[in-house]
Amino acid sequence: MTTIEAVQGDITRESVDAIVNAANSSLLGGGGVDGAIHRRGGPAILEDCRKLRASHYGKGLATGQAVATTAGDLDAHWVIHTVGPVYSATEDRSDLLASCYRESLRVADELGARTVSFPAISTGVYRYPMQDAARIAVDTVRAARTDVEAVRFVLFDAPAYEVFAAQLR
Ligand code: ADP
Repeated sequence: MTTIEAVQGDITRESVDAIVNAANSSLLGGGGVDGAIHRRGGPAILEDCRKLRASHYGKGLATGQAVATTAGDLDAHWVIHTVGPVYSATEDRSDLLASCYRESLRVADELGARTVSFPAISTGVYRYPMQDAARIAVDTVRAARTDVEAVRFVLFDAPAYEVFAAQLR
């Protein structure tokens, strides 16, 4: 059984085995939660990302995939980087968003992580509507077969928290 909860806060302050990053395919850093994770986690994370680019992801990490690095100075063992889809009003990309949660949990299982915190992937610069994103996130984590014991959705602001909390009820 995986317990699932939503909290309002800054994901870079989480004390968990793994923090999930809403990265972009370059893995070389960006704004939003990605920027915050690299800022607080320090240069070790980017160093790992550069190595991954050189060794396995020369063309970048594909949308819906996930990969782990050190968490640097964060109070976590790993950062799991996943690339959410850019929202489209004309094309259903919910499978790609679901894949981010599934693949992140698969990577967490490979690492042996038991506690994992997720941001609301794709709901910032990638413009996914919070309501749709929360439904996909909660449904996918609930349906996942994983050894992760505790999943926390960490929402930056109160409106996002309310949407996720309502979805969990
Ligand atoms: P994406 O490119 O996947 O849309 P963003 O980083 O732009 O990623 O936004 C994803 C979500 O993360 C947004 O809801 C944003 O408000 C939220 N966010 C930004 N900074 C943090 C943080 N420090 N902790 C938790 N969530 C954050």
